[in-house]
Amino acid sequence: MILPNHLHLYNSLSRQKEKFTALHAPFVGMYVCGPTVYNYVHLGNCRTFVNFDLIRRYLLHLGYQVRFVRNITDAGHLENDADHGEDKIAQKARLEKLEPMEIVQKYTLHFHDMMRTLNVLAPSIEPTATGHIVEQIQMTQDLIDKGFAYVVNGSVYFDVKKYHASYDYGVLSGRNIEELQEGSRQLEGQEEKRDALDFALWKKASPRHIMHWASPWSEGFPGWHLECSAMSTKYLGDTFDIHGGGLDLKFPHHECEIAQCLAHSGQSQAKFWLHANLLTVNGYKMSKSLGNTLSVEDILEGNTDLLHRAYTASVLRFFMLCTHYRSVMDFSSTALDMAEKNFQKLQDTYEALLDIAPTESSSQNVQELVAQCYQALDDDLNTPLFVARLLEIVKFVNVIKQGKGGISEKDLLFLQEKFKAFTRDILGLVWQEKAQNSKADEFIDLLLDIRQDAKANKNFALSDIIRQTLVEKGVIIQDGKEKSTWKWA
Ligand code: AMP
Ligand code: ZN
Repeated sequence: MILPNHLHLYNSLSRQKEKFTALHAPFVGMYVCGPTVYNYVHLGNCRTFVNFDLIRRYLLHLGYQVRFVRNITDAGHLENDADHGEDKIAQKARLEKLEPMEIVQKYTLHFHDMMRTLNVLAPSIEPTATGHIVEQIQMTQDLIDKGFAYVVNGSVYFDVKKYHASYDYGVLSGRNIEELQEGSRQLEGQEEKRDALDFALWKKASPRHIMHWASPWSEGFPGWHLECSAMSTKYLGDTFDIHGGGLDLKFPHHECEIAQCLAHSGQSQAKFWLHANLLTVNGYKMSKSLGNTLSVEDILEGNTDLLHRAYTASVLRFFMLCTHYRSVMDFSSTALDMAEKNFQKLQDTYEALLDIAPTESSSQNVQELVAQCYQALDDDLNTPLFVARLLEIVKFVNVIKQGKGGISEKDLLFLQEKFKAFTRDILGLVWQEKAQNSKADEFIDLLLDIRQDAKANKNFALSDIIRQTLVEKGVIIQDGKEKSTWKWA
C-alpha cells in the first residue's frame, strides 16, 4: 500500500518542483549513473550515491516497489570525458601493469565495500557497459537506420543538428545549440565528425586501444553516453520514472542520453531528472584531477590534515545527508562534529523512546511533530529541515525524560514506529556499538552487584564463577575495598 504523500521533486528538466506520481504505481523505475571503476571512489562520489539512496529509501518507505538500476562503467569512458584519447580503464591498466578487467574488478570491489560501509542499499540491477555491447550496437544501428547517426571510417557519430531539427538538444542543460556551436572548435582527432557537437556512439579502436569488440562498422568500443541509454532502456523501458546522477553529468552526458533515447524510441527517457550537487573542499570540487580527494577510509581513520580525529561511517553518512542534495556541500570538520552531536541525540532519543513509560495523555501534539517531518521530506527531500524537525522530537522526548511532560500509550507506539522509520529506514543510520555496549554494561554492573553480595555472604564459589565468566567475555575486573570496577579488555 502506498502511503498518502505529497512528495514533490525538483525536476531538472522543467527546472521546478513537481508532484511525484509514478508512471506505473506501485512500481518505480529509477536509474542512477554509477562510477567509472578506474579509481578508488572518493567522498564526492559517495555523497551522490548516498543522496540517491535516500531518495530510493523514501520511495520504499512510501510503499513503492523500486527497481533501482545503477551501472558500472567499465569501458568507453575516455580521458577528459572526451570522444577521443585513451580509455580511462585501459590507461590505469597500463599504469598499474594489470589487465583492464583486473582494474575493473579491483575498483568495483572497493566501490561495493564503500557502499556497504555507508549503508547504501545494493542496486536491484547493476549492469556493466562491457556486458551490454550487443544492446549498444543494436541502439547504434537503430539510430543509423533512423537517420540520426552516420558512419565515418568505422566510427559512428550522433548527428546533433539532425536531431535538433526535430527535437531540442539542450532541453536539460538549458544550453543553446547556436551558442554551443560557436563555442566549440573542431579539436584535434575529431576531424571525422560532421559537426563539433556530434558525439561518438561507436569508435573504431586504434591499434593501441586494447579494449575492443566486433561490430558491423569496425573492431571498436561504444561511446560513454550510449551505455546508460542502452541499459536503462533494457531494464526500465523506453520511459521510466527517475533518472539521477551528479550535477557534473548534466552536460554533456545526460543531454546526450536524452537525445539518444528520444531519437531511438520517440519517447522521453525519464519523467524526472534529479541532480545531486557536488562536494567541495575549500570551495573546489572534490576530484582526482585537483588532487583534493578524501576517501571514506580517511574519515574512518581520521587520516587527514583536515580532521583532528576519526568519525564512524554512520556519522559520515548522516553528515552527508544534513545538507540538501541540491546544495553544494563544503567539507569541514566543524560540520562533521555537529553531525556527530546530532547523531548521538537521535540515537539517545531512539533508545529513550523504547524506555519511557506512557502517561495518561501527551503534552505535545505528536501527530503534528511527525507530520512536520513528512512535510520536510515531501518538499524535495529537504533533509536540513527534516533533521531540524527530528531534533524537535528529541526536545520533546527530553522533556518527558525530565518528568516535565508525558506521552499517551497510543502516541508513544506511533512515535516509536515513525522515529525508527525516519532514522533507521529513511536516513539509513546504523546506531553505534555503544548502544549495544551500554545494554551489556548494565548487565555487567548487575552481575558485579550480585558478586559483591555473594562475597559479603561468603558465597565464594558463586563470586568466582561470576568473575571467571566475565573475564572470559573480555571484562577486566578490579576489586576495590568497597566496590569492584570493570572495563573492557
Ligand atoms: P565518475 O566515476 O567520475 O563518473 O563519478 C561517479 C559519480 O560521482 C557521478 O554521478 C558524478 O557526478 C559524481 N561525482 C563526482 N565528483 C563528485 C563530487 N565532488 N561531489 C559529488 N558528486 C561527485
Ligand atoms: Zn550515465
